[in-house]
Amino acid sequence: MIINDKQIESLLAGAAKSGPSLVADILAKARETKGLTPAETAVLLQCEDKGLIQQILQAAKHVKEEIYGKRLVLFAPLYVTNECINNCLYCGFRKDNTSLTRKTLSLDELAEEVTILEDMGHKRILMVFGEHPRHSNIDFIEKSIARAYATKSKKGEMRRINVNLAPLSLEDFKRLKAAKIGTYQAFQETYHRETYKYLHPSGKKADYDWRVTAFDRAQQAGIDDIGAGVLFGLYDYKFEVLALQYHSMHLEKEYGSGPHTISVPRLEPALNAPAANCPPHPVSDEEFKKLVAIIRLAVPYTGMILSTREAPALRDELVGLGISQLSAGSRTYPGGYKDQLAHVEVEEQFQIEDTRPLDQVIYDLCKIGYIPSFCTACYRLGRTGENFMGFAKTGFIRNFCTPNALLTFKEYLLDYALPATRELGERVFKEHLDKLPENIREKTLAKCRELEAGERDRYF
Ligand code: SAM
Ligand code: SF4
Repeated sequence: MIINDKQIESLLAGAAKSGPSLVADILAKARETKGLTPAETAVLLQCEDKGLIQQILQAAKHVKEEIYGKRLVLFAPLYVTNECINNCLYCGFRKDNTSLTRKTLSLDELAEEVTILEDMGHKRILMVFGEHPRHSNIDFIEKSIARAYATKSKKGEMRRINVNLAPLSLEDFKRLKAAKIGTYQAFQETYHRETYKYLHPSGKKADYDWRVTAFDRAQQAGIDDIGAGVLFGLYDYKFEVLALQYHSMHLEKEYGSGPHTISVPRLEPALNAPAANCPPHPVSDEEFKKLVAIIRLAVPYTGMILSTREAPALRDELVGLGISQLSAGSRTYPGGYKDQLAHVEVEEQFQIEDTRPLDQVIYDLCKIGYIPSFCTACYRLGRTGENFMGFAKTGFIRNFCTPNALLTFKEYLLDYALPATRELGERVFKEHLDKLPENIREKTLAKCRELEAGERDRYF
């Protein structure tokens, strides 16, 4: 059994009795980037003392900085279809929402959306599909991915396409692998069986086990780069964080590496979605910061993704606590980017809190000392799955990822930045370049000169 509800509940009950004295020891271990056992994670989750929670946040900041440095990877979602046979009570795309305008992008419309994203400066997209036998079958998914990779605008191109779609059969996962996806992402939504059952009353998604075993089939099909997640607000966040950790341990034991990323979406209001408009287990901002910090400590080498569901000021705080990838400039319905250019407003999948354009997000990240990164090197060099974790755990992220982040940031500054962002960005670029060890700085500078001379896509 991948997730054992009783085991998680009993760990949480035990940790509630253990008191706060253990927290200091656990944090000392966590600061050494060694990760946590589920029992240790449970103690941190049960900690409600404000002073101790501050210490948890401080430890997470230390681990984040130690492993990831100051880079932050940026991407955009691309919604391909909002047709769906399921009836998830929290989602605006649910079958029973008859007020929603249904739309599936044609391949030409998809290329238009990709072009707009490339013209903003994006190099990495997450293609999102509702679940529908006609509108999102594997033939269509393959064609969509191929078309997106083939679409190039000016100096832009998509170098990595991740997908968020319903679990597939082993055979279909093999085809998805052959389509050259980066990450296969699917959220369990809630790991709590009873809650899951209630929230997914019909359609294919009603089958908890089919969903929780999706990553096993993906791995067996050769997809070793997977993205897990929970939709926070559906059930007790403490249970969900432990379940994520158990899922991760299962994958590590069976296939040599846990998920490449964990996403932390939080419920947002959505049209005709009763569970979204009245969350069963609302997670406050303070709890959200705490849970992000605890995930960072529990699985330090797993990337963490935050979307535009969260407001800018909170996003700034969360990147310090553990988030390593951010979506930016997002629209959450098919055709949303074209509509935005035409100033047309259509109902999104859920309400977005961060509506800043990509350039503004980049400017704001520079202001707080981060290097916005569009790097896709590891995926293209085969540094994924078990392979990637091996690299990551030997300090590779800092020595290779920072130069690669700087090189892709330089491309952005040369090709897309507005004047104020270019000016600030060049300063931030130089500041971080100067901090690199001399030999790496020289090599990075050499590649940088190639970019300035008109070459593109330089990486280590
Ligand atoms: N249909 C696929 C599936 O369910 O796996 C993928 C597409 S679905 C649009 C992507 C994710 O959106 C879901 O996994 C869910 O976590 C998230 N989502 C749905 N409703 C939401 C809401 N009201 N607020 C925030 N996120 C939501
Ligand atoms: Fe469909 Fe996914 Fe929305 Fe559920 S979450 S209704 S499966 S698009």
